[in-house]
Amino acid sequence: MAEIIDGRAIAQRVRAQVATQTQRLLAENIIPGLAVILVGNDPASEIYVRNKERAAAKTGIHSETFKLSATTTEAEVLALIQRLNHDASIDAILLQSPVPGQINEQAMQDAIAPEKDVDGFNPTNIGKLFANRAGYYPVANTPKGIMTLLEQAHVELAQRLVVILGRSNLVGRPLFALMEAQNASVVLLHRFTPDDLRHQLLQQADVIISATGVPKLVRADDVKAGATVIDVGITRLADGSLQGDVDFEAVAPKAQAITPVPGGVGPMTIATLLQTTVELAAEHHQVELEAGWQNI
Ligand code: NAD
Repeated sequence: MAEIIDGRAIAQRVRAQVATQTQRLLAENIIPGLAVILVGNDPASEIYVRNKERAAAKTGIHSETFKLSATTTEAEVLALIQRLNHDASIDAILLQSPVPGQINEQAMQDAIAPEKDVDGFNPTNIGKLFANRAGYYPVANTPKGIMTLLEQAHVELAQRLVVILGRSNLVGRPLFALMEAQNASVVLLHRFTPDDLRHQLLQQADVIISATGVPKLVRADDVKAGATVIDVGITRLADGSLQGDVDFEAVAPKAQAITPVPGGVGPMTIATLLQTTVELAAEHHQVELEAGWQNI
């Protein structure tokens, strides 16, 4: 039976480290500031934003939520982003997705200053990631959190075959770059990959990361014995339960290590967002945080 990678426990350790580093910053009169922009009243987004606010408050990070009505114009959102770009008390800006149709979400993401781009969606930061540039820049939090999970589970990446299912800008694409930077050999699959090719590649993979939102796409006969399986997918089924992309019951006995849904990748995303906020604050104020503090 595989090791079950406990995302809740690892996320808890990340948050504890964030709190410690925040205390270091507060001791120098630096308050890490996170601005969250929520446009409209999508109930799921409201819950996400509340969770982010609560988690930030627990670690000592100052968070401010800007709730804008569903009829807000693009110019109004842009004006707010520009104001926050110039607000010295704000280190990190997050635009909650999705936004109402009259607003071009990508243009708004692009308007967030690269040095405050806590989600790592700005093309400048994406370019640095894909060029494997040295120095600090923010990277999308779900893939960054997955790298922490793998590190904590002592999963070797160099010289291994990693197969990623899903090529979104949120997960698959940045993960491809992060994995490749660790000297893994990486294959990125998507909805147009033929089923038989997906099956053949998965069978050879040392590490499988699935981020498709297709319930039980990864089955036991797709997985090589001893592979590590990371399930990013979350689908709410008709009975209200959550289902990942992986057929957990069937795959777990074959895998070396596996993440559950829920309780795997999910809890890492907010913890990593807070980690990135503290990193950005330290960068802005040119403060050295404790060496290796992210190595929980
Ligand atoms: P998305 O809809 O933007 O992208 C889905 C990707 O899956 C696409 O690239 C598509 O080509 C690919 N895909 C679809 N069918 C496929 C198949 N049969 N084989 C291979 N690839 C296939 O989704 P997203 O935003 O990247 O999210 C993916 C899933 O991960 C969703 O279930 C989402 O809820 C979940 N998610 C979880 C977290 C978290 O914190 N745990 C964060 C982000 C996304």
